[in-house]
Amino acid sequence: MQMICLDLEGVLVPEIWIAFAERTGIADFRRTTRDEPDYDRLMRWRLDLLRRHGLKLADIQAVIAGMAPLEGAREFLDDLRARYQVIILSDTFYEFADPLMRQLGRPTLFCHRLVVDDAGFVADYLLRQPDQKRHAVNALKSLNYQVIAAGDSYNDTGMLGAADAGFFIHPPPGIVAQFPQFPVNASYAELKASIDGAAARLRPAA
Ligand SMILES: [Mg+2]
Repeated sequence: MQMICLDLEGVLVPEIWIAFAERTGIADFRRTTRDEPDYDRLMRWRLDLLRRHGLKLADIQAVIAGMAPLEGAREFLDDLRARYQVIILSDTFYEFADPLMRQLGRPTLFCHRLVVDDAGFVADYLLRQPDQKRHAVNALKSLNYQVIAAGDSYNDTGMLGAADAGFFIHPPPGIVAQFPQFPVNASYAELKASIDGAAARLRPAA
């Protein structure tokens, strides 16, 4: 049995915080782990910024609802789901992802959760598990699945390395040279061919 694990942001949907910064016109939301490597500090800074701008979860979801998946993402995902089992492994939060997941036909999503206070502000965030993408792949393998994974960035490399086959799709420059073991795909058509090739290679001979 084979399982496909896909990253969400940068693979099927835009980077949510970047798109959020563009849609709200609040450039500070563009800050990423490249600017603040301490993820906890970055998230606390973002939550503080949301509060200072008076943005409650409902406001954030309304902004995200105006975003769309990347062009061709829904068709790519539907095709995969018709032929394989697929799980999305993401470091986003269920509450943020929801408007985009609806547009993707609600595939299974493993990610994290936000804590919302009585006034509707995002008060905190809860990582379900650190390094959850890699743990998920290893858990699926322990359930006797062969895992084929695809992602676009550093937070995917644990997942790609743990999988039976791991691929990049349009990764940012710089990461490719650091992780030459993961073949690079420039489009959904290329990634589909890579996944199908790996699936045929991994499948035991009948
Ligand atoms: Mg990504």
